[in-house]
Amino acid sequence: MKQKSYDVIIIGAGASGLFCAFKAAERGREVLLLDHQSSPGQKITVSGGGRCNFTNMELDVSNYISQNPAFCFSALKRFSQFDCIRFFESLDLPYEERKLGQLFCTVSAEEIVKKLVDLCEQHKVEILLDCRIAQLQKHDMFSLQTNNGELKAESVVIATGGLSYKNLGASDFGMMVAKRFGINTIATQPALVPLTFNEMHANIFKMLSGISMSALLTVGKESFRDDLLFTHKGLSGPAILQVSSYVKKNSSIIINVLPDIDLFVYLKKNKADSPKAQLKTILAQLLPKRFVQLMCDNYIQSRCMQEYSDNMLQQITEQLQCWELKPTGNRGYGVAEATCGGVDTHELSSKTFESKKVAGLYFIGEVIDVTGQLGGYNLQWAWSSGYCCGQFV
Ligand SMILES: Cc1cc2nc3c(=O)[nH]c(=O)nc-3n(C[C@H](O)[C@H](O)[C@H](O)COP(=O)(O)OP(=O)(O)OC[C@H]3O[C@@H](n4cnc5c(N)ncnc54)[C@H](O)[C@@H]3O)c2cc1C
Repeated sequence: MKQKSYDVIIIGAGASGLFCAFKAAERGREVLLLDHQSSPGQKITVSGGGRCNFTNMELDVSNYISQNPAFCFSALKRFSQFDCIRFFESLDLPYEERKLGQLFCTVSAEEIVKKLVDLCEQHKVEILLDCRIAQLQKHDMFSLQTNNGELKAESVVIATGGLSYKNLGASDFGMMVAKRFGINTIATQPALVPLTFNEMHANIFKMLSGISMSALLTVGKESFRDDLLFTHKGLSGPAILQVSSYVKKNSSIIINVLPDIDLFVYLKKNKADSPKAQLKTILAQLLPKRFVQLMCDNYIQSRCMQEYSDNMLQQITEQLQCWELKPTGNRGYGVAEATCGGVDTHELSSKTFESKKVAGLYFIGEVIDVTGQLGGYNLQWAWSSGYCCGQFV
């Protein structure tokens, strides 16, 4: 079996690995970028529905979840959303701003991967695909036993991403490496994921399947205003994906399906103006008919407006503006857009991303315990951490 040595081996040719690879190579480092999949950047390709929501105009540490919230500050500052925009412009990748500051490419996300691979090739990064690692050890150098023989390097960067979408290459390799080298990890859970509910609610949501409405969702101290989608398996849509990352065991979600009005005042006015009108007719002026019908069948009774006391109108208001639901779980890593938890950032330098315990071992991207909200924040983290590590590795 052949044996080859490099300055740096980067494991994982996804968003962070590709970025780190050409940045390190730009500095004259001899870099091998390897992946066990047969093509690089598969998550980039499917991201943003194939248009890649690559960053967000509004970027702040509060857009990230981590046991060590300040960790991401330095990297996000050194490679910010504006640096990212300049970088995309330098590659002639056209983009547009959509709602909530989200920037999407206006060409296929595959173009981004192509351009990143081109950059790697220009800087003589060696890319090795379909490469499976049987063992990673450190002696004087790092040594990787692979189906391509033994590979050696001074430094190794773990850029193997989160645990979701196994079919796109996800694995727990990074977590396993951390554990083997005695580096602490934070327990993982699916993030940005549709939620599931008990049978009673699930049956109602099934009947509402396909309805999407703008709502304000709150879990703990976090609130998100975006679309809520009823599905045959529970609740989904961007608002649910956002709160899902904050849901813990026994968390309740508070849903306000009419965030723009004072419903109590509205109902009182309609009671005075149209006392004989049915509640469901009044509500159907504001909400989809099928939703109103099911709410009236299951949670609130529809009668003539004149039959409701103020107290009853207040209860209806609470049902629709403070609708409390307890998820029973989520749809899992198969459909989650990200992973919460990962390598404990207390173990890493926020400047270089090198392990404090194991010299020469670096972790970047989603494998670290830094999880972005929906809206381009996860890819921004991949670019920022890849960029910063690439300056030092
Ligand atoms: C469907 C979907 C849509 C998304 N859309 C967006 C979006 O629009 N905007 C956004 O910001 N984020 C989005 N994300 C999240 C974003 O894609 C990830 O956070 C980002 O790609 C993480 O970058 P990374 O480099 O850490 O990992 P990845 O890009 O996942 O790359 C990891 C690489 O490591 C490789 N690998 C894993 N294990 C091994 C191993 N044992 N040996 C060798 N190689 C290995 C994988 O094959 C993969 O190529 C989306 C995610 C999904 C699943």
